[in-house]
Amino acid sequence: MPAKGARVEIVIIGAGVIGLATAWRAAAGGAAVTLVDPRPAGGASAVAAGMLTPVSELTYGEEPLLRLGLASRERYGPFVAELEEATGLGTGHRTDGILEVAFDSGDLGYLDDLRRFQEGLGIPTEALTGRQCREHEPMLAPGVRGGLLAPEDGSIDPRRLTRALLAAAEGLGVRLVRRRAAGVLVEADAAAGVRLDDGTRIRADKVLLAAGAWSGDVEGLPDGIVPPVRPVKGQVIRLRTPVPFLRRSTRGLVRGSSVYLVPRTDGEVVVGATQEEMGFDTRVTAGGLWELLRDARELLPGITELEFTEVSAGLRPGSPDNAPVMGPTALPGFLLGTGHFRNGVLLAPVSADILAAMLLDGPVPEVAAPFTPDRFPTEVRS
Ligand code: FAD
Repeated sequence: MPAKGARVEIVIIGAGVIGLATAWRAAAGGAAVTLVDPRPAGGASAVAAGMLTPVSELTYGEEPLLRLGLASRERYGPFVAELEEATGLGTGHRTDGILEVAFDSGDLGYLDDLRRFQEGLGIPTEALTGRQCREHEPMLAPGVRGGLLAPEDGSIDPRRLTRALLAAAEGLGVRLVRRRAAGVLVEADAAAGVRLDDGTRIRADKVLLAAGAWSGDVEGLPDGIVPPVRPVKGQVIRLRTPVPFLRRSTRGLVRGSSVYLVPRTDGEVVVGATQEEMGFDTRVTAGGLWELLRDARELLPGITELEFTEVSAGLRPGSPDNAPVMGPTALPGFLLGTGHFRNGVLLAPVSADILAAMLLDGPVPEVAAPFTPDRFPTEVRS
């Protein structure tokens, strides 16, 4: 524990969107923060499309996650305004809604069920005919059957976001150490800091593990503390257009298969994403790209005219119930901030507030309660 009146010293392992946002918030709360990462913002955050979609992503049985996502979406405006003000850097934040469209009648049936489910939870979504969808997005194929508009969802450019977060964190005195954390130091049955891959030790009062899909790789932790996170591969394609192609982010169901397109104001269009259980494999495959382009072209035939700029694959950190794992563990001083799976960019503002409050022993937002590490039985964790 820090001496009375001293600043609490925190080491955060991993400078992805979660580690960076938490470092910024914890430093603003008065902590002395060190971020350890050999490639800051080099994990899933560098690949993500950046859709901010608690509503469009809604899945049956995930109501607590929906509440967390809505809480984060609500925080996004002020979070980004403060970040842009502090750094002078843009983030590409957009709040112009997400359009979800159905290609055939089976897809439309699925969207109808989703709309009823959302309405049952009191979430406003607007059902649209095929023609109304094309009024919103004139480039959509004539065959698109109908859709839903989630007017309050949006998007952000995760690469610009993490750049701004790093600048803001460093502006508040956060120290960045560009090395891999090999292990957690444990002394007197409590976390005491981290050991880097060159043997250097960084001592701290608290350690937060936010290493995304690699969170299970850190050594030195007692049995039952290692987080149950697995990598879930996602491939995306980046295209570019000199003239506006899409007005807002658009997700489509094409014969049961899902694809989305996220336009940015600078002309980039991100097409994603596959979801593959392949371990730590980040190869881009012909089949993955073919599926994305096939479905994207069914919805928006003009996509084939866009300039191709990049393909990449990233690893989402997935937990056993696909929800984040945030909070103290049975090892005093050692906290987890991982498992954000498909939604880490969306969940960054609320997760940063939750994790900074936990690190600084402040009041933790109630919405965090369902996501503590102790929800998993020990045998799953060890
Ligand atoms: P990461 O971003 O993976 O960062 C982990 C960091 O830890 C990395 O920088 C890595 O270098 C570092 N690290 C690893 N091991 C160590 C170590 N031993 N020591 C020090 N540092 C270490 N989310 C959304 O909200 N909206 C989207 O539209 C969206 N689209 C996505 C599309 C794809 C294809 C993918 C792959 C993900 C997408 N996501 C999306 C999910 C989102 O990217 C993740 O949930 C989020 O990036 C997780 O953030 P993180 O900081 O936990 O992990």
